[in-house]
Amino acid sequence: MRKLIFLLVTSSCFLFTGYWIPAAGYGLEAGKFYSDGSPKKAEFSLTYDDGPGFITEDLLKLLERHGARATFFMTGYSVRKYPEVAAKIAAAGHLIGNHTDKHEFYPKVDKSPDREKILAKELDGGAAAIEKATGKKTLFMRMPNGYNRDWVRKVVAAKGYIMVNWTYGSDWTAIAEDKMAAGYLSHVNPGAILLMHDGGGESRAKTLRITEKVLLEAKKKGLKAVALDTLLDIKTGE
Ligand SMILES: [Zn+2]
Repeated sequence: MRKLIFLLVTSSCFLFTGYWIPAAGYGLEAGKFYSDGSPKKAEFSLTYDDGPGFITEDLLKLLERHGARATFFMTGYSVRKYPEVAAKIAAAGHLIGNHTDKHEFYPKVDKSPDREKILAKELDGGAAAIEKATGKKTLFMRMPNGYNRDWVRKVVAAKGYIMVNWTYGSDWTAIAEDKMAAGYLSHVNPGAILLMHDGGGESRAKTLRITEKVLLEAKKKGLKAVALDTLLDIKTGE
């Protein structure tokens, strides 16, 4: 019976459209996983996790000065703390992604028999907080700590998200700032996805300094800072 329903549904899709197109337009992308973009385009992406935070408003001004569009992977708890800043990010035209609600530690969640349910709830919680503060639905998501496993990708796909990790990032480590900046600058390349963090307090000020260096380097190399929908050629339906 299941097979018959499947046949009926798929054949009716063929009848009406000639070939199958998902209703949302971007449904084919759900469940895809990226950690870089095409090296053939003169573009790269800046992505900021865990925010909004203390430095985010200054970061918005810096990005605007350089004509850069970025992607912000927000957590529900940070959005509830800084709802006005989240709204400002959206109003500035940056792309907003879901970084889950409470940023659980997934190597631990992995051991729970309810891990799928926990992640699904975390995604819904993040999405609800973001939508309430910004009016935006999220299509892109990044796992806390980039946690990437088969079961994670299944839940993420079932929820209709595109999962994105990164080409390079080190701003959460204890590396000295000059070495850290050099690391970022050497990765300002076509198709790169750079990870930084705007969530948290004043200690994130170095993220501003490194962002400025990255944007100047990009200008020298003729690379444009674009958000992930542009870098990965994905229509968000907006
Ligand atoms: Zn994070």
